[in-house]
Amino acid sequence: MTAFLSLGGNLGNTREIFEQTYPLIEKKIGQILQKSSLYQTAAWGMTDQADFLNQVIEIETTQNPKEILTNLLAIELHFGRVRDIKWGPRSIDLDLLLFGNQQVNTPHLTVPHPRIQDRKFILIPLVEIAPNTLHPILRKSVKELLALTTDTSTVTLIQHL
Ligand code: ATP
Ligand code: CA
Ligand code: CA
Repeated sequence: MTAFLSLGGNLGNTREIFEQTYPLIEKKIGQILQKSSLYQTAAWGMTDQADFLNQVIEIETTQNPKEILTNLLAIELHFGRVRDIKWGPRSIDLDLLLFGNQQVNTPHLTVPHPRIQDRKFILIPLVEIAPNTLHPILRKSVKELLALTTDTSTVTLIQHL
C-alpha cells in the first residue's frame, strides 16, 4: 500500500532530526518512495512559537494504519517528543495523512488526517510530490484542495532536493 506521512518540528536541530527519522521509518514502517522539499512555516494553531520545518513523504508499506501509527509514535518518543501544549513546540511530529484511498475512524486514528485541507504546510509539499492524489472523502485532488484552502499562512521553500 502507498501512504503519505508528514514530518514537522520546531524544537532542536530539526533538519538533523528529519535526517535521522528517514532510516527509522524505513526500518520500522516501509520504503520511502518520495520526499518533498523542506518548507518553513509559521506555527499553525498556536502561533507564539518558533517557525516549523515541514515535509511530506510517500512510503510503500505492508503495515496497516494502526501499526503505522504505533510506529510513528515510537519514533516521536525516540526523539523525546513530549505532549504537553496542544499544537505546541515539538522535536518531531509524524502524522499519517493518507493510506491509499482507505478511511479509518477510531478514537485514536483518523485517516485521511482530518486537517489536510486546512493546512498549506501539508498541501504544498503534497502537491509537490503527488499533485493528482485523490482525497477519498472530499473527492478532490490535493492540487484542487490547495487551490480551495482557506489557509492564508506563508509557506516558504527552503531546500530543493
Ligand atoms: P494535529 O492532529 O492537528 O496535526 P498534533 O499532530 O499536534 O495535531 P498530536 O498530539 O501529535 O496532535 O497527536 C494526538 C493524537 O492524534 C495521537 O496520539 C494519535 O492517536 C491521534 N491521531 C489521530 N489520527 C491521526 C493521524 N492520522 N496521524 C497521526 N496521529 C493521529
Ligand atoms: Ca500534526
Ligand atoms: Ca501528530
